[in-house]
Amino acid sequence: MNPPAAALSPPPRRPRRALLWGALVGLLLVAQTLLVALTLNYESSRAQDEADAAATEAAGEVKRDLLRTVQSLQALMWNDGSTPPWRDGASALMRAQRELLRVERRDGALDVGAAVDSGYGALFVQMARDALDVEAEVACAAARRMSAPVFSRTYFVPVGDGRGVEVMDLCLPVKDAGRDDGFLVATFGLAALLEGTLAPHRTRRHELTFVEGDGTRLARAGAGRGAGVYVSERLVDQPGATLQLRADGVAGRPSLIPNLTTALVLGLSMALFAVVLLLARDVRRRARAESALAEALAFRQAMEDSLVTGLRARDLEGRITYVNPAFCAMTGFGADELQQRGAEALPPYWPPEHAASYAERQRARLLGAGREPREAREGFETVFRRKNGERFPVMIYEAPLVDGDGRHTGWMSAVLDVGPQRRMEELSRQQQDRLQATARLATVGEMASLLSHELNQPLAAIASYASGSLNMMEQPDADTPGMLKQAMERIAEQAERAGRIIKSVHHFVRRRERQHESVAVDALIEAVLPLVRLQARKSGTRIELDLPAKAPRVMCDRTMTEQVLLNLTRNAIQAMETDTALEDRVLTLRVRQAHPRWVSFHVVDQGPGIAPDVAQRLFTPFYTTRSEGMGLGLSLCRTVIEQHGGALDFGPGPGGRGTEFQFTLPAPRSAADAAGDAAQSIVTPP
Ligand code: ADP
Repeated sequence: MNPPAAALSPPPRRPRRALLWGALVGLLLVAQTLLVALTLNYESSRAQDEADAAATEAAGEVKRDLLRTVQSLQALMWNDGSTPPWRDGASALMRAQRELLRVERRDGALDVGAAVDSGYGALFVQMARDALDVEAEVACAAARRMSAPVFSRTYFVPVGDGRGVEVMDLCLPVKDAGRDDGFLVATFGLAALLEGTLAPHRTRRHELTFVEGDGTRLARAGAGRGAGVYVSERLVDQPGATLQLRADGVAGRPSLIPNLTTALVLGLSMALFAVVLLLARDVRRRARAESALAEALAFRQAMEDSLVTGLRARDLEGRITYVNPAFCAMTGFGADELQQRGAEALPPYWPPEHAASYAERQRARLLGAGREPREAREGFETVFRRKNGERFPVMIYEAPLVDGDGRHTGWMSAVLDVGPQRRMEELSRQQQDRLQATARLATVGEMASLLSHELNQPLAAIASYASGSLNMMEQPDADTPGMLKQAMERIAEQAERAGRIIKSVHHFVRRRERQHESVAVDALIEAVLPLVRLQARKSGTRIELDLPAKAPRVMCDRTMTEQVLLNLTRNAIQAMETDTALEDRVLTLRVRQAHPRWVSFHVVDQGPGIAPDVAQRLFTPFYTTRSEGMGLGLSLCRTVIEQHGGALDFGPGPGGRGTEFQFTLPAPRSAADAAGDAAQSIVTPP
């Protein structure tokens, strides 16, 4: 889990990518154009090859046909032309060889002795045979010379309606016992000669023609017209004449679209293009996602680097797999020092003196792997060691690390150096202490007057007991020893009380450690009641006590709490001294336990109440409305109550009459405490 952003290479620059894409598209275009061109070229050469094959096949067939016909005609020579067998033979021959249009038997002077026309009609009707005899005569002259069959040149025979047939004659010299016996002249129709020379699959695709040297077409055959693109010519050499045979492909140049192969290639190319486009889109999307990821990682990195909280990840064996810069700065160890350690090696930031207990804690954590311990969420405080050996307190919050498959793979901890915080807390505590000490010192004056006030009573009592004792000792009688003992006991009692007052004030000023004890409320009330009664009697005030049937207990500094009660009751009695009718002068002391942890005390009078301007400054030290007052009572009361954790408050009495002061004191934590402490709360009357 190293910082991943560092391993991330910057995305390739845009122009380079565009160049690559341009090259790819260009290459694809060239490849496809080449492919189409090659396909077309292949088509062309295939068509040309077919035309060549058709021409060769047709020429061969024409030659074979002519040879067959010549042989058949030679068989016919043995019959006399005037006889029916000759005629029948000639007719049969013409039926078999459809290119034969007419057979003539001629004598030595080339006069026609007998002639048979083919079953399709006579040839020389439009023009007489005589008028078209030149070619035959030339051929026969040559045939006689060579004593072999000779073909004439081709010539046109009109058959009416402006139409005609191109024909040529074959002249065979007839020998009878070694001497010339005239000629056999056969007339061939060139068109018929072409018919049937090609296999059906070729006739459909080629037009066959006999052409002259200048390109004039003499005769044609075939289903369609040749397009003149794929043309092949062959010479058909015969004695006396040479025919030029041409095969002309019906198909023109291969066109781009209707051609199946080309269409296929084009279709595939288009599909290829579409794929490339989709691929490009995908690549673009990927690039966008990549850059977003890089941004997010950089953001995370910046966040981690800027954190002041140390982050530490550990696997399930306790090996450190990741630490952030803040953690390294906090401990002083480098990331490498922390991460490249075996599972058994203890982290270097564990103080050696705590290593055993930390290892135990870690083992417990690992055993409970997957379960999130409560302390992990709430955090726990511990002590780490810096590289320089310094110990410092840290707060650790842990959360389980869960991978993409929901497997628990380790722990991620946030580590806070709470050293500065602890130092601040200590500083502020010290400051608070000093402040409180100052505040307490400020009340020393109050204490002095309080002491003089409180000590007056015991001291006066001591003085009067002492002078009484002296008197008794001057005139002793039988009762003197007993009286003296009683007086001494009173003196000791009062001295003890005076001592308690001084001690509690001394403790208060020195802020002794809390030595609160559990005291029953009725014991407290009983302790102050004699003094309150004494004061109440002077102004004719009645005292009403309102305590719960089972008196609750409170945790308090007994003497100071008694002092508070004394102050509040004295204020209440004084408030009723002037303006309250004698019959209305009632002081109510009420105690309630409304909350299991808190007990409240209420001191209610029927006096004039407290004016708002007085109320504002009531707790200000030295604020008083009485000429003989010190103005310290209430501020002292509040300090005492607050030191106990309680609160002192006031308001109008029930029904809006008089004033009610109330304060709270904590109840002992449990019944067991209360029972244990019960023995200490001994009621001692003043
Ligand atoms: P002192 O009693 O010395 O004046 P305290 O702090 O006890 O000082 O009281 C301050 C002032 O608060 C008194 O002077 C009085 O005016 C007023 N006060 C205190 N208690 C009562 C009360 N129960 N009713 C009316 N006024 C009161």
